[in-house]
Amino acid sequence: MTACKNCTPSNFIHDIIEDHLETGKYGGRVHTRFPPEPNGYLHIGHAKSICLNFGTAAKYGGLCNLRFDDTNPTKEDVEYVESIKEDVRWLGFDWDDRLYYASDYFDQLYRYAEQLIRDGKAYVCDLGPDEIREYRGTLTEPGKESPYRNRPVEENLDLFRRMRAGEFPDGSRVLRAKIDMASPNLNMRDPVLYRIIRAAHHRTGDRWCIYPMYDYAHPLSDAIEGITHSICTLEFEDHRPLYDWVLEACRVENPPQQIEFARLNLTYTVMSKRKLRQLVEEGHVSGWDDPRMPTISGLRRRGYTPEAIRDFCDRIGVAKANSTVDIAMLEHCIREDLNLKAPRVMAVLRPLKVIIDNYPEGRVEELDAEYNSENPGLGSRKVPFSRALYIERDDFLEDPPKKFFRLSPGSEVRLKHAYIIKCHRVIKDEKTGQVVELRCTYDPETRSGTPAADARKVKGTLHWVSAAHAARSEVRLYDHLFLKENPDDDTGGADFKAHLNPDSLIRLTSCLVEPSLAGAAPGSRYQFLRHGYFIADPVDSKEGAPVFNRIVPLKDTWAKIEKAGEQAGKA
Ligand code: ATP
Ligand code: MG
Repeated sequence: MTACKNCTPSNFIHDIIEDHLETGKYGGRVHTRFPPEPNGYLHIGHAKSICLNFGTAAKYGGLCNLRFDDTNPTKEDVEYVESIKEDVRWLGFDWDDRLYYASDYFDQLYRYAEQLIRDGKAYVCDLGPDEIREYRGTLTEPGKESPYRNRPVEENLDLFRRMRAGEFPDGSRVLRAKIDMASPNLNMRDPVLYRIIRAAHHRTGDRWCIYPMYDYAHPLSDAIEGITHSICTLEFEDHRPLYDWVLEACRVENPPQQIEFARLNLTYTVMSKRKLRQLVEEGHVSGWDDPRMPTISGLRRRGYTPEAIRDFCDRIGVAKANSTVDIAMLEHCIREDLNLKAPRVMAVLRPLKVIIDNYPEGRVEELDAEYNSENPGLGSRKVPFSRALYIERDDFLEDPPKKFFRLSPGSEVRLKHAYIIKCHRVIKDEKTGQVVELRCTYDPETRSGTPAADARKVKGTLHWVSAAHAARSEVRLYDHLFLKENPDDDTGGADFKAHLNPDSLIRLTSCLVEPSLAGAAPGSRYQFLRHGYFIADPVDSKEGAPVFNRIVPLKDTWAKIEKAGEQAGKA
């Protein structure tokens, strides 16, 4: 996989388009579409398709439509339509006035179907679903022709019209293409074009009781919209002959070309809407936008930016062979995006009290603290320092191993933006033996930024908050939703849910954050020094009572892989 920053990932689809532009196949036009079925929320795999379709159109000065593939009324819902629109827009793409629904074309699709019947290319079949399956044959055996295959045109037309008029019960008849029951491609063995379903459609209501199949509706919808390149995922490769057959049989001029690419899979997660829906409906997550979900709405709530997701989609490239991308690469992209953008602030997640014995009672110093040493443009804020502070519980060890550069009895550490302190007494809970407080002294000569402070050699720098000024908040630490790299792999016989990570969410409810964070606007992002990148949860955060989600910890495993790769490339 080409994923390093300095190389452009290959995109064979762009090669095809450039070839078409050269030969003038579509008169220089590039028109793509993103065609979601509104039966669930979009996920990061869809983001790849969105970036590819909208991005390709933009690259060649073309257009990209948003089209809802709403041909299956039993599974679809307006809730999904709205969320999909929101997600595409949030990712930074715009369909202008080109928002379409396959259901807008139901009348046209119906007329095409009558034409196919008149041309002897479609027939009404009375076999039931099980019989149709039986007659279809297998990969090794040819199918059998339906006894209804040679119905006269007039009878077919009459029956099809009566199917539409609601004269027959659901499932009793279908309209089928008359292609070839002996075709080695099962999709070409007289596929069903229309079925009877009495279900209200979220847009057309009860107007229809017959609905077109995807394989019939999709190519024609593409043709109606003037699509040139119909980009879809690999599982449709075997359907391409049918895509082409439908367009030819309906006498579409200069038909669109279907091009398949490999779908995105990510480690430690599942990507199918069916499985994601199951996680939601069975309460394994709090909803489609749970920050652990690979949905766009989940990633948004987790704190991902559209820039990071688009960057990720660029880096993974577009290939013809299925593969799985390391989730560490996605995490790397958000770190890169936030590194310079995010203010770096102090939050103590598991607080341990520190009293500075030689600091005057009641005194408060407002210390200057720049927000991001690598990006001075972010400015600075004041951080209050006082006698009673909190540090991170695991930044102290009574019996430290060698090379523990944090606080321990007798050792010195630097407090970020403040002073050097030294611990001289440890206070424990008499009953439990737990450390409850540290007594320290500070060196007034070592205020951060002064030459004396810089001259002193101290290995560790800790983050901290002032006890009287800190704001209490809840922090949610997220980890991968699954423990197994590929939860879909069922070789052990286990269902994917058997691999759910029980520690994918850790809620810490008594965290203390620096006062500047008390008013953190929902949706604002930070680096908590030494902890990672966080966002004030857009849903549960209230002004004055922030709840923070950890987007990612700081440790970047992907950067290491990338570096090793670059060095190997140089060698
Ligand atoms: P799922 O299999 O997750 O239920 P789907 O393919 O049924 O998804 P659609 O709403 O039909 O979902 O997909 C809309 C578009 O997004 C299609 O063109 C589809 O090929 C593409 N797409 C879906 N999943 C992925 C993925 N993992 N990687 C890339 N593109 C995808
Ligand atoms: Mg689909």
